[in-house]
Amino acid sequence: MTDWERQLELWAARGLRRTLRPLAAAGPRVEREGRYLINLASNDYLGLSTDPRLVRAAQEALARWGVGAGASRLVSGDRRVHAALEAALADFKGTEAALVFTSGYAANVGVLAALAGPRDQIFADALNHASLNDGARLSRARLRYYRHRDLDHLEDLLKGPGPRRGGRRFIVTDAVFSMDADLAPLPALVELAERYEALLVVDDAHGSGVVGPEGRGTVHHFGLAGRVPVQVATLSKALGGQGGVVAGARALVEVLLHRARAFIYSTGIAPALAAAALEAVRLVRGPEGEARRARLRQHLARLKAELRAKGYRVLHEDPAPMLLVWVGAPGPALRLAAHLEARGVLAPAIRPPTVPEGTSRLRLAPMATHTEVEIERVIQAFPPAEEVGV
Ligand code: PMP
Repeated sequence: MTDWERQLELWAARGLRRTLRPLAAAGPRVEREGRYLINLASNDYLGLSTDPRLVRAAQEALARWGVGAGASRLVSGDRRVHAALEAALADFKGTEAALVFTSGYAANVGVLAALAGPRDQIFADALNHASLNDGARLSRARLRYYRHRDLDHLEDLLKGPGPRRGGRRFIVTDAVFSMDADLAPLPALVELAERYEALLVVDDAHGSGVVGPEGRGTVHHFGLAGRVPVQVATLSKALGGQGGVVAGARALVEVLLHRARAFIYSTGIAPALAAAALEAVRLVRGPEGEARRARLRQHLARLKAELRAKGYRVLHEDPAPMLLVWVGAPGPALRLAAHLEARGVLAPAIRPPTVPEGTSRLRLAPMATHTEVEIERVIQAFPPAEEVGV
């Protein structure tokens, strides 16, 4: 047996082996191995990934510009649709400018590695997304984690020795923590950042499109427009497509053009994806977006109340667009996910290393495009909590 095979067996024995399992369709109803499943396993919260208007925008862009951008944007990969999208995203986020990356992951790694360096200090929420952690490490700044959402702990760290001469401080956080369905305390983080002269970087991957007025995100939900200097978002979740964005001052975006290696040394985002995202921003900000957000809120409230009535511990803070059903050990989490799948519901078990040991859970992300009947079927598919042993 090779080392790799041994490693795979160890993971399998601990309920941690991962496999790819293709779906035969996309959207709120999917198909796997000939069976129809209600899809609660996506981040396509508003159901835009299969929306005909986005598909048409992408098709028109494909016909006009072809499949790939052909080069880095700084070389010959830049198209007018990129600039149009960046202007729309800057307006959406309330900033002077924006820069689009090929994914949210690339945006986070790119922005942190570009802005922070070995003289700097980064203070990061302990539950931040892997891409923020990877960017922070790549920057070679001194990285300190504060306990999840613990402002006293963060302030204690900020009171400690400052950065080396010429260095600066960063506070880095997810806006919505997607595996806990809770929100960063952004108003207090803004104040701490201002008081301790730290640059606040907020990744609103899960809030953009679904949270706040016009879906503009968590920063707007808290009325903090203009007070978060670096906003990151993804085009890959509520906006239905693929890509990432950093929004902020024009000078920030220009610095990223010179320093963000994930932007400079990577082919520009496909023009068709940029065109789809441009259409998504338009829809999300209008009455259609409002109606979809309202339906999503209804589904979340119903699932939360009914699953709690069945005895489950459900994690969810409004207005986060997902729910977590607490299980604990990975084995029972997998068994509950399999039980649901056998009853036509696709909801993934979230296990270590995505979450800490002993905190496995099921993640439910209803979509605005689910029907009430489907939400009812989801509720019916859950056995009473005591049968699952949670
Ligand atoms: N930030 C957060 C908080 C995320 O959850 C994710 C996706 N899982 C990303 C960034 C990465 O975004 P993308 O999928 O567009 O690479």
